[in-house]
Amino acid sequence: MIEDWASGIFTSTGAGLGAGLAQVRQLGATTVHLHAPHRDQRTPENAQRLAQEVAASGIAITVVFVGFEDDDYTTVERVEESVGLVPQHTREERVRQTLEIADFAHALGVAAIGMHLGALPGSPQAAQFLPIVKATRAVCDHCARNNQSFHLETGQETAAELLSFLQAVDRPNLAVNFDPANMILYGAGDPLEAMGLLGPYIRSVHCKDARYDREPGQPWYEDAPLGQGDVDIEAFLRCLHALGYTGALTIEREYSPDQTGDIEAALNLLRDLRGKILGTGS
Ligand code: MG
Repeated sequence: MIEDWASGIFTSTGAGLGAGLAQVRQLGATTVHLHAPHRDQRTPENAQRLAQEVAASGIAITVVFVGFEDDDYTTVERVEESVGLVPQHTREERVRQTLEIADFAHALGVAAIGMHLGALPGSPQAAQFLPIVKATRAVCDHCARNNQSFHLETGQETAAELLSFLQAVDRPNLAVNFDPANMILYGAGDPLEAMGLLGPYIRSVHCKDARYDREPGQPWYEDAPLGQGDVDIEAFLRCLHALGYTGALTIEREYSPDQTGDIEAALNLLRDLRGKILGTGS
């Protein structure tokens, strides 16, 4: 049983940019979102070893995140061309990999997978809208057989566009992993307003911050330490509370010279706000 608003850290083992499991243990978080390891590491033996490792550390994996070797986040244009199930030429193979990752997560005992689906076409009339809907249904239906949900990362499109896509896919196990910083980084609208539209779909979150103003030469994707960007973190948590969200608060901090220090500060900030909003001592 995971406590309400359990502390979480976005974590990687072999692939991805999240903190390592050793850092998570050191920092004392009780849950993680785990970036799926590389394909050759996604074996039943590895799933068993990893499940034992995290369980022995008292850590629960709440979501396994799908990523692909050739996802490219260097520019927004490259994201549109390369990320998720949106690019047509890689879609079929990536759906196959996604189903493999869902099964790997199932072997780990994890009831949700998440993904940056890519930059969805804004209009349901766009030629690729329906093929992407069908690919997403295929993932949802496979996940349903594993008793899993499929969480779409927010930010590449506006909340209204994402909502119309969710409604078009029309699967009960399709959900949202709400990342307020992505809304800022991609210029996809105000994060708190987005929560008003997407609220019923939010089943996991990334506690991540970002600034609207970029430094000269700063890559667009660079996030900010939690509480130092333009996401009003207290308002974000109050909004989650109003929605009845009790899931993990998973800190995502990737592009930082002091990843551990930033995550530690974020854990402290969330602990303070959790106490203030929920009235808990922890
Ligand atoms: Mg995120």
